[in-house]
Amino acid sequence: MSNIYLGLVHYPVINKFNETVTTSITNLDIHDISRSCCTFGVKKFFVISPLMTQKELLSRILDFWKTDLAIKFNPFRVEALRLVKFVDSIRSAQEYIKKQEEISSLTITTSATKQKSILKFSEYGNIDKPVLLLFGTGNGLSREVHELADFVLEPITGSGEYNHLSVRSAVAIVLDRLTSEK
Ligand code: SAM
Repeated sequence: MSNIYLGLVHYPVINKFNETVTTSITNLDIHDISRSCCTFGVKKFFVISPLMTQKELLSRILDFWKTDLAIKFNPFRVEALRLVKFVDSIRSAQEYIKKQEEISSLTITTSATKQKSILKFSEYGNIDKPVLLLFGTGNGLSREVHELADFVLEPITGSGEYNHLSVRSAVAIVLDRLTSEK
């Protein structure tokens, strides 16, 4: 088990006009990210949205994966989806971790572009606290989320100029790199 709690942020994120928006939950993100989380020993996968309609949507998706039929059909997927927890804000995720761990977590954000107070992958092993690792949807996390975080993680770099990973791919690569640095 790692010291990582992962959050997929649906608000506040930006759209392509750099406006702060709320995005919708997608089935693919929930399934693929929960499987990566389970593979790399993440403690909880928070889906973060202030919209109760999105909470209901997520519950509908998850409810099927609690049935006997689902357990027979794909027990590995059932196991991964048990990690998913809906919270209405980043603050609620931080409070949940504090209750579980009896210590405050460090918040680390991710981005394809370099920001201030960069944490290198190689430095991650020095952290001895629980970590809330945040990923964006839409066009990425809004500026204030990065500003309020303790660190912004060094971006994954590709082989050239092009750097447009889906959030699902970014999660898998980041988790692999962080857990192999430990
Ligand atoms: N709608 C898009 C999709 O297809 O998934 C979401 C794109 S969103 C900007 C992707 C998120 O993945 C970013 O907010 C960031 O958390 C993470 N991400 C993407 N590229 C990354 C990179 N090169 N390094 C670190 N994180 C990255």
